[in-house]
Amino acid sequence: MLHTLLTHTLVSCPDTKWRDLLPPLEGEQPRWASLYSTLVPRPIGDISWWLLHGAVSTGVFLTQFTPIPDTCPFCNVRETLAHVYLECARLQPLFWLLTNILLHFWLHFSHHLFIYTLPIHGPTKSRDLLVNLLLALAKTAIYKTREGRLAHEASCDCRAFFRSSVHSRIRAEFLWAASTNSLDAFEERWALSGVLCSVTPSGSLRLTL
Ligand SMILES: [Zn+2]
Repeated sequence: MLHTLLTHTLVSCPDTKWRDLLPPLEGEQPRWASLYSTLVPRPIGDISWWLLHGAVSTGVFLTQFTPIPDTCPFCNVRETLAHVYLECARLQPLFWLLTNILLHFWLHFSHHLFIYTLPIHGPTKSRDLLVNLLLALAKTAIYKTREGRLAHEASCDCRAFFRSSVHSRIRAEFLWAASTNSLDAFEERWALSGVLCSVTPSGSLRLTL
C-alpha cells in the first residue's frame, strides 16, 4: 500500500519546478540529455542539472531552516529561484553578453533557452555543444558569485566570472591542441565563426570574447 502511494506520488511529481515557473513553449521540453556532453563534463554540468531540478539554495528556501534572510544578497528583493537565475538586475550584463554571442551563432537568447538548454542537432552539433557549454558556464558564474557574496568575497561580478571561465577553458584547450599538433581540430570546435577566439596564421591564439 505504502509502496503504491509513494510510486503514485513520484509519478505525479513534475520533473522540474520550471514547468510552473517558466512553462515550456509549444513543442519545447527540458532537455536533460543536453546538460552533459564532451564539452560539459561534471562538475560543470551538475549545476545545470541541480538548477533544472530546482535543487539549488535560495534565500526563500534557506530562511525556513536558518536565520539567513529571504532576500537577495545583491538587491534585497525576495530571493526566489527565478530571481536568482533569471530576474536579478545583476544578471543583465551577463545576459546581454550571451545575447550578443548567440546572435553571432544565429540564435536568440531567452530565459527558456537558458534554463532548458539547446537540443543537439546533427548538422549544427558543433555549435550546439559550444552554446550549451556557454550556458553551463553562465549558470556556474551565477551560482559561484552568489556563494562568493554570501561569503563576503570582494569580486562577485558574474559577467566577469563568466568571461574569465571561458578564457581559461579556451587557453587550456589551445595549449593542449598546440602540444598535440591538433590545431585544426581546435579551430573546428572552439573558433566557430571567430566568435570566441581565432588562431592566427602564425599559430597563436587570439581571444575575441
Ligand atoms: Zn537580486
